[in-house]
Amino acid sequence: MANHWTRAFAGWAIAGLAIAAAPARAAESVADRVKVTEDRISGALSGRPKYKVSRLVPPRARSAGLPKVSGDEDRPLVVIDAGHGGVDPGAINSLTGLREKDVTLRIARAMRDELLASGRVRVALTRDKDRYLILRERYGVARRLKADLFISVHCDSVGNGDATGASVYTLSEVASDKEAARLAARENKADVIAGVNLGDASADVSSILIDLAQRETMNASAGFARLLAREAKPLIPTKAKFHRMASLMVLKAPDMPSILFETGYISNPVDAAFIDSPEGRQRISESVRRAVEVYFAKRMVAR
Ligand code: ZN
Repeated sequence: MANHWTRAFAGWAIAGLAIAAAPARAAESVADRVKVTEDRISGALSGRPKYKVSRLVPPRARSAGLPKVSGDEDRPLVVIDAGHGGVDPGAINSLTGLREKDVTLRIARAMRDELLASGRVRVALTRDKDRYLILRERYGVARRLKADLFISVHCDSVGNGDATGASVYTLSEVASDKEAARLAARENKADVIAGVNLGDASADVSSILIDLAQRETMNASAGFARLLAREAKPLIPTKAKFHRMASLMVLKAPDMPSILFETGYISNPVDAAFIDSPEGRQRISESVRRAVEVYFAKRMVAR
């Protein structure tokens, strides 16, 4: 398989160049970009075609970048982001081989179904299959859909198998504690595949950081995190300190309340069995559904 991987990673490297040169296309998936022909890549690099990437899809399929939105048109939109995917497995349980990317996708689908059944919101998933997206692209997709709330679903992991419980993260430039800082470092690494930082676009990020709108968004995100704490604690095992803050790339949309939900420890056998069971998924989804209902009900009243 060495040849296959060498070729695949050469493709990622090319995609990385295209991203750096064309931030306007950030919301398009990397997978789409890898499939792009030499004419687009040469345009992005403003030179002659230097790289050849084979055409895998017809040109018209490129515009089909946004995920499907389900639910009644006049409802607020919740975008659920299943963490990791494709070449990025996320954390892996060393005993069972259970992969975070598979667990998060199953939870995200359960959340979508639970939220849609409530009839109160519309829902879209950033990915509904095993697919790699850079972090900026995840919230980029949600922003293009004009989402009212963004929920990124993850599983925690530490070397020590005893750590347990769910927690929720909202954005802060300063981590609330050492554990939060470590988590941010680990999750932000999802953009680095085979040593190539596919999410690197510092100019874009700094313009986001100075946006004043972000202050208000951070408050709204924290408000949702508090609601989730209240609803999750009776339903699922949670950490004593449930709400934490960290500089997480996936939460950096300036104008869209965003949380990262660490649903439990994939490294802990009991947690892993729970979060990857139908009952665990149901309870996790129910806590989110309840928090979502209260969150939007409060916003309606505030208007
Ligand atoms: Zn993760």
